Amino acid sequence: MSQPYEQSYLYRLRHSAAHLMAQAVTELYPGAKLSIGPPIENGFYYDIDFPESLKEEDLPRIEQKMKELSKLDQRIQRSEVSRDEAKNLILDDSIPSMGSTVAEYKLQLLDAIPEGETISFYDQQRTDRDGKLHRFLDLCRGPHVDTTKEIKHFKLMNLAGAYWRGEVKNKQLTRIYGTAFESAEELEAYLHMLEEAKKRDHRLLGKELGLFMFSPRVGTGLPLWLPKGATLRMVMTDFLQKEQVKRGYDPVVTPHIASIKLYEKSGHIINYRDKMFPFMEDQEGDKDTYILKPMNCPFHIEIYQSQMRSYRDLPVRYAEFGTVHRYEQSGEVTGILRARGFTQDDAHLFVTPEQLQDEFIGVVELMQTVLKKLGLSDYRVRVGTKDPAGDKYVGHDDNWVAATNAITDACDKLGLDYEISPGDAAFYGPKLDLIIKDALGREWQMGTVQVDYNLPERFELEYIGEDSKPHRPVMIHRAPFGSLERMIGLLTEQYTGAFPFWLSPVQITILAIADRHNEAAFAMATKLREEIYDSRNLRVTVDDRRETLGKKIREAQLHKTPYMLILGDRGLEEGTIGVRSREDGDLGEMTVASFLSALKN
Ligand SMILES: [Zn+2]
Ligand SMILES: [Zn+2]
Repeated sequence: MSQPYEQSYLYRLRHSAAHLMAQAVTELYPGAKLSIGPPIENGFYYDIDFPESLKEEDLPRIEQKMKELSKLDQRIQRSEVSRDEAKNLILDDSIPSMGSTVAEYKLQLLDAIPEGETISFYDQQRTDRDGKLHRFLDLCRGPHVDTTKEIKHFKLMNLAGAYWRGEVKNKQLTRIYGTAFESAEELEAYLHMLEEAKKRDHRLLGKELGLFMFSPRVGTGLPLWLPKGATLRMVMTDFLQKEQVKRGYDPVVTPHIASIKLYEKSGHIINYRDKMFPFMEDQEGDKDTYILKPMNCPFHIEIYQSQMRSYRDLPVRYAEFGTVHRYEQSGEVTGILRARGFTQDDAHLFVTPEQLQDEFIGVVELMQTVLKKLGLSDYRVRVGTKDPAGDKYVGHDDNWVAATNAITDACDKLGLDYEISPGDAAFYGPKLDLIIKDALGREWQMGTVQVDYNLPERFELEYIGEDSKPHRPVMIHRAPFGSLERMIGLLTEQYTGAFPFWLSPVQITILAIADRHNEAAFAMATKLREEIYDSRNLRVTVDDRRETLGKKIREAQLHKTPYMLILGDRGLEEGTIGVRSREDGDLGEMTVASFLSALKN
């Protein structure tokens, strides 16, 4: 196994690049106050309080200065000091990055270091031609690389505003994002990947392809699904529904809101409050408080509990495409990948402890079937367990151990490679996540399955066993897509909008060459729509606008329509059409029948 990123050379290199950037800034912008500058997933940042506002156009100048400073081969040296010495250093007016005028944030950071903990500084020093000593000193835990010469392949990316300590009441600082790599090739590849990602951005493509939209009058993170996007959803839910029926799932439908009592019982009020929309007080009617549904589980539990269950009834598998709403921070909302309203392909299985392993395996197999169908074959498995130090969990430790073992045993039996990730559990139980790698090598957490002993206990769920005594079932929560929104976001970027034929919202478009071909084109569309492909009717449109054929072809190509059928005089006389494919271009003239048989093969 490779070492964790936090202990890698790359991590130290990026942290050192953040310091190098801060050094360049203090030399270029006297009076700039430094706060914090850590390495992050794909690079680093530094939050700085600038005397005057910084613009993106200023970044190349800072980058240039960094290059000069890097070449000077400054040793990066660590020193450990007492709290008093630290304070003196921070207030030392003879060191450019320090001194009373810029010390504001560093003094607060020093105060935040707990008594008894090591206080360390990192120094970058050089002597210039005239023998003058230049220093860049920073209060920092480290670790760093040995010399600035190692920091060669970097780029400053963009600016953002960031409140000091993340609190809105504090001053907004300027955050400069950058990235650094060990080699020029890796930096190049990363920048290229970002360019590609920009072209594939689902927010952009979603608009271009007419999949979904947002409106400020509707609200942040609340997508409106347009006909083509809604078609895509329909095809996906239809496919999954059929797979679920084959596996003995039963559909249920539940409301969007419920009384607070339901969520008190489930534990959401205590453990999930910060992700819930403001509560609704009904002062006039039944004087109850209502809550917008953030999860479907408690509703399915109510249905399970509505009648006496025998071991013969189990497993019970309730499935619902359940729309939920979660109060994501507005800054974290990202298109349909992280929306405030979304639809989970949710299901809850109520099983006997003896059935747990087989049912769990069944769920994982279903998830594998789904991913294969969607063309997502590159993924890894992560088992999220309870963080031993965390307090956001319900239930006894015994239950957690049993549930975690059920997941890892099932993975072993399936021969799945998995990694354990402490702290990634849901508040009621451990879970297995599928992390998908997309065409650009980026990772997406998608489908999830959770084993839960705790909600059955909170709701006192029962079934009568073979021994005629009551027993407690175990619950499995699962969502192979994760949510329709997230999955469609991923698929849009994965395929750059050119969805596989079975998924394409419009599969075939008929281009009438002239007005006199329109009638025949619509008649052909009606006939084609009766054809079944992959157990669904073909989705066909007609472009009958008074535009040139060239323009119609370009537009269909832009909309990533898999097939264009060109209908002109020859079509009327000889019954043949010109066929163009999205991938292969002109496929020549053929009859509709031969096109269909080629398609179905
Ligand atoms: Zn640092
Ligand atoms: Zn659930």
